[in-house]
Amino acid sequence: MALVVKKFGGSSVATTKKILAVAERILSEKKPDDKIVVVVSAMGDSTDNLITLAEGIDKHPYKSAYLREMDMLLTTGEQVSISLLAMAFQKLGHPAISLTGAMVGMKTDSVHTKGRILNINPSRVFEELDKGNIVVVAGFQGADKFGDPVTLGRGGSDASAVALAGAMKADECEIFTDVDGIYSADPRIVKGARKMKEITYREMLEMARLGAGVMQPRSVEMGYYFNIPIHVRSTFNDKVGTVIREDYTMEDNYFEIRGVAHDQKVAKVAILGVDNQPGIAHKIFSALAKANISVDMIVQSIRNLERNITDIVFTIEQTDLSEAKKVIDKVAEDINATTVLVEEDVAKVSIVGAGMVGSPGVASKMFGALAKAGINIDIISTSEISVSCLIKGSQLTEAVNAIHDEFFSE
Ligand code: ADP
Ligand code: ASP
Ligand code: MG
Repeated sequence: MALVVKKFGGSSVATTKKILAVAERILSEKKPDDKIVVVVSAMGDSTDNLITLAEGIDKHPYKSAYLREMDMLLTTGEQVSISLLAMAFQKLGHPAISLTGAMVGMKTDSVHTKGRILNINPSRVFEELDKGNIVVVAGFQGADKFGDPVTLGRGGSDASAVALAGAMKADECEIFTDVDGIYSADPRIVKGARKMKEITYREMLEMARLGAGVMQPRSVEMGYYFNIPIHVRSTFNDKVGTVIREDYTMEDNYFEIRGVAHDQKVAKVAILGVDNQPGIAHKIFSALAKANISVDMIVQSIRNLERNITDIVFTIEQTDLSEAKKVIDKVAEDINATTVLVEEDVAKVSIVGAGMVGSPGVASKMFGALAKAGINIDIISTSEISVSCLIKGSQLTEAVNAIHDEFFSE
């Protein structure tokens, strides 16, 4: 007997035909005693369509005043797919029940649209499994201490699945998606991207944070926390995919880096002409933190030594831009900054790999690839296992391919 959590993403359940195919596949692979929990995302683009609906009310629906209502709206997407999948199992002759995030005891904080899972009490899931049901769970959602729905950030069904697998001590956690594993770059952008057999939590977390949307970063953190291997594989064939785990168990081809990640959902904010004195950076970034806006790359430059003023430039997620602009305009007035500029035609391209620690040549190889392609670097940031460059958004595809070729062509 095995207890298995399987997660199916939006493209895997985009139509009722695909939902029936998912149910058929699960039943054909299920051994009689297996206990199966299926976590699903909303059908196809339905989360995006719900956001578009909200934009019909206000062009900028991610304002703090609306965030609770955004969650009320967005959680409906997953409710559609869980009910249909449970009906599909029943039609094929197997008992099944659908449960929302609140019903599976997924407790979150109250940070609407970016909620974090605080704890899970899956007793209802165990009860339903014991009755012989396949349990179909709505991904991407939990409930806070008031019982209000909270979503877990875009792509959050991955986090629901891994957290549930961890809390239930499942034997396996499988993430079914529209690619057959994790590649050295997004295979939609880089034709020659290489599929990996394995990747460590640490490297996958860095890839995910830097934009590799195949796994949501928090889901990888959760996998690490519970030490549960995550098998990422295709919904549409039965090839072995990529396993995310603590350490490598087999030899893989040696390359200096593991992969190239990119992120187009980035915006740049520049606050020009701020006094170069203690407390200014704190004022700016604490105001953003209070509004739950995460800041990524930060650069402070000495612009004018005589007048002792500097410019502070940073990047944020594009969806946070309208709220951030409100916050920053207010702070800028407070600190007497000259100008606030925002730019949306920017993107971040990054290389990731634990092997780059202490290899200075790796970063320069990346910069060389960009230079050869005639791509200008706006901001550079590094971590122990990654190097990221902010570039023009319109040059992103070219940049990812140029860097990938540099590191992965034999
Ligand atoms: P789902 O709806 O199943 O959650 P997502 O669209 O969130 O699927 O994630 C799968 C997509 O992730 C792929 O279609 C692919 O374009 C993208 N992706 C980005 N980086 C990578 C990578 N390094 N390896 C594989 N897929 C990647
Ligand atoms: N439906 C949600 C989204 O589109 C969650 C997910 O797909 O994982 O972001
Ligand atoms: Mg996803």
